[in-house]
Amino acid sequence: MKGFSIGSIFRDNCNTLVIVLGSTVFDLGKLLAASGADSLPSGFGLSEMLDDWATWFPRIKQAVELGESQGSGGIDAYRIADVSEVAWRAPILKPRKLICMGTNYAGHATEVSSDPLKAPYSFIKSSSNTLRGSGATITLLDIANMNDWEVELAVVIGKAARRVDVALAMDYVAGYSIINDVSARDWVASSPKFLGIDWVVGKSIDGYAPMGPTFTPAEFVADPQNLNLELTVNGKVMQRGNTSQMVFNIAEIIAHLSRIMTLEPGDIIASGTPEGTGFGHKPPVWLKDGDIVHCTIDGLGTLENKFVR
Ligand code: MG
Repeated sequence: MKGFSIGSIFRDNCNTLVIVLGSTVFDLGKLLAASGADSLPSGFGLSEMLDDWATWFPRIKQAVELGESQGSGGIDAYRIADVSEVAWRAPILKPRKLICMGTNYAGHATEVSSDPLKAPYSFIKSSSNTLRGSGATITLLDIANMNDWEVELAVVIGKAARRVDVALAMDYVAGYSIINDVSARDWVASSPKFLGIDWVVGKSIDGYAPMGPTFTPAEFVADPQNLNLELTVNGKVMQRGNTSQMVFNIAEIIAHLSRIMTLEPGDIIASGTPEGTGFGHKPPVWLKDGDIVHCTIDGLGTLENKFVR
């Protein structure tokens, strides 16, 4: 079947789950109901679906296939709008964990003068206050002056993973999205020597993890290790890379993290960023009032956000 992605939008002040086919947004709840599936419980989002993804994904596929086969009497009746016309929320609103990989592209490691990694390097970003949807305006932290961008492939976990082997690790991926791992670099580097980097202040600021526009199921991403990533600021290309350049690939990251902690459905792993961050430019370039950032990954769409003071 043709691929689709799943997202969340604001509609009539409510969260509405949608699917995107081509450039058109359809009401997922109504599509499921029309296919005979149980109606979605109130407040049900992608997070809840991912808790039972093995049940929900086939159900959604079936509903889409049925709706498409019925044409104007089917899926067309549930059209909401064009993708450019809706107010996106982050596709996953309540992940249990948001884990970020540091310097997982050699070019970025070089530009921040980091030693090559001997093992995957990770940190936790607060998952309850940082996520925003595509189109959201993000307020830069008033006490930070070195605010930086990082386009990353977001890997979304689809079933509990504990001590999984590299060879089986991709079975635990439900799908992918785009995330901008925004940083306040002046706070990342501001700590005493013994304590090291303050990842909390540098990374967990409100709105500093815009994500989306949607979530694309893994089945529709032919090779997640061969996707071009690009980030522009006000139309100027700042970052360009390919997921083939990851130091530790997705399977290796999942195997590593799942040895430390149980990865749970809906957990998001931001898999690292290629070179071209603001910090890496000479002289450095930081986000400023009014900047518009576009993050694009092959097949996953474009995440757009405006940053303001
Ligand atoms: Mg990052």
